[in-house]
Amino acid sequence: MTIWVGTGWKMNKTLAQARDYAETLAAVEQERWAGIQPFILPPSTALAVVSAVLGPRSRVLVGAQNAHWADAGAWTGEVSVPQVADAGATIVEIGHSERRTFFAETDATVNLKVKATVRHGLTPLVCVGEPASVFAARGSVTYVLDEVRAALQGVNDVSSVVLAYEPIWAIGSGGREAEPADIADVFAAVQAEWGGSVQAVLFGGSVNLGNAVPILAVEGVDGLFVGRAAWDVDGFIELLDLVAAR
Ligand code: PEP
Repeated sequence: MTIWVGTGWKMNKTLAQARDYAETLAAVEQERWAGIQPFILPPSTALAVVSAVLGPRSRVLVGAQNAHWADAGAWTGEVSVPQVADAGATIVEIGHSERRTFFAETDATVNLKVKATVRHGLTPLVCVGEPASVFAARGSVTYVLDEVRAALQGVNDVSSVVLAYEPIWAIGSGGREAEPADIADVFAAVQAEWGGSVQAVLFGGSVNLGNAVPILAVEGVDGLFVGRAAWDVDGFIELLDLVAAR
């Protein structure tokens, strides 16, 4: 089974920093990551340079952190799926909780973006996850299944979809690291409903070198989606090596 390990850089890195990161990654003997699918999601400004530095034979996939559902048009400030594909993206992250919270992304727009991404042959990386209040009320499974169903509603072929379960209470510097027992029920439920159809179901939220292996050992976890711990390229490489050696 392929284990996915990737990082989204959020709104970080200049072109020079992005190039440095990609050059370091490109110089590593990537064969040692056999069985792993690494991916990085730079800001859209750096997609082209990162893709060019890594080159077509790299094991590392490059993706965008967002894309609009329309192919082109009067959508000031947005980028489309064909545009990010043109810049080298093969993955589009959709529905991260920060986009849902701060940029009014809804289940409906997430669904439109999934459809656009599938239509253009890219991989949708669909983020779902409940807030702390829902987790405390033991509502995580229902909440997450509802989000996944809404995201994939009417999508004829979900075989390219990668889901990322990212509980909001676990994300970012204010987040709490998840224990395997916190997330096992959600993975069981998502895999029971979607496991035969989607490509993979990842976990994200405060993943680091200390908790990556126990989280990957949870039944149904097909990979890790990492923020802060992989923003430094050495951190990403260490994480990939750790997963390869586990
Ligand atoms: C994220 O924001 O998607 C994320 C996983 O971040 P972090 O690993 O820093 O919690």
